[in-house]
Amino acid sequence: MYDIIIIGCGTAGMTAAIYARRSGKSVLLLEAESIGGQVAVTPKVENFPGFGEISGSELADKLLDHATSLGADIELEKVTSIKKLGDRHFSVTGEYNSYECKAVIIASGAKPRHINVEGEDELVGNGVSYCAVCDGAFFKNEDVALIGDANTALIYTLQLSSLCRKVYLLTLFDRFFGEQELVDAVKQKSNVEIHHNLALTKFIKDGDSLAGLEMLNKESGDIETYAVKGCFISIGQVPDNKAFADIVNLDEKGYIIADESCCTSTEGIFVAGDCRTKKIRQLTTAASDGAIAALAANSYIDRVVRPVV
Ligand SMILES: Cc1cc2nc3c(=O)[nH]c(=O)nc-3n(C[C@H](O)[C@H](O)[C@H](O)COP(=O)(O)OP(=O)(O)OC[C@H]3O[C@@H](n4cnc5c(N)ncnc54)[C@H](O)[C@@H]3O)c2cc1C
Repeated sequence: MYDIIIIGCGTAGMTAAIYARRSGKSVLLLEAESIGGQVAVTPKVENFPGFGEISGSELADKLLDHATSLGADIELEKVTSIKKLGDRHFSVTGEYNSYECKAVIIASGAKPRHINVEGEDELVGNGVSYCAVCDGAFFKNEDVALIGDANTALIYTLQLSSLCRKVYLLTLFDRFFGEQELVDAVKQKSNVEIHHNLALTKFIKDGDSLAGLEMLNKESGDIETYAVKGCFISIGQVPDNKAFADIVNLDEKGYIIADESCCTSTEGIFVAGDCRTKKIRQLTTAASDGAIAALAANSYIDRVVRPVV
């Protein structure tokens, strides 16, 4: 039995592992997809204190080295449920195995929001992507579109502009919502064409692959066509906490309800990072939550679980 199982190997989960190990607790990290979470697909981080500028993958590697060098175990496993085992323990079940522990920290982060236009799911891998860092290179010297208007969309546009022949930056509203510095950098790129105030009406296909986009110009009412082989969608994040809905309370958007204490509605289950209710979802707040959740889990085990075992 582990003292603490942490679900999600992103910034929040790995920070929680560092704090939990340094408190002397045994720790298992369970990761569904790839170690690092969102930071691993961030080209450049410039606001993580102490680093000035660092690539996201390097920061993810450093977090991983730190957590594992302190003795945290890691398994690649998507968690599908958490159940209570009596009053004081939990069983955490994944696709392959079940594990037992005294406390759980959910750090399952967030995933890209889908645009929900017909054909989207079938085109993923055939032209539609949510990650320019992961898939941009597949469209080298091609024309692509980026749908979005905030920081991630702007970062992805810059990334794509250095790989692709042309990038159509298509926004859903009449302005950008990202940092001015990024907006200025995008506007300086000669191969980026910006079009505002659009709505995606159709993915145009050639066989199984993407061939273009039909967009409604909300101002003129015209349908505009963009011939692109790649379409990157960057319209925000959504949590994926369905597996935990029967054990902790979620809000109407699916975030796990918790305040700065990182305690959930269930004693012994804590939450950290982008998957919880909060206003600011950033690396620093994910790391902060990881520390708070781990120390809360540590104190819960010492105070509540140990005396009765
Ligand atoms: C392109 C991009 C650029 C960004 N740039 C910056 C920036 O410059 N500065 C900044 O401060 N923030 C930035 N952010 C935001 C920042 O990356 C996130 O706020 C932060 O990484 C959240 O960390 P997290 O650990 O909460 O979640 P995540 O990083 O999302 O990690 C959650 C992990 O949990 C795993 N998981 C989910 N469900 C399960 C399950 N059921 N079982 C097992 N594992 C599961 C996921 O696979 C994932 O690895 C950026 C985000 C993106 C997408």
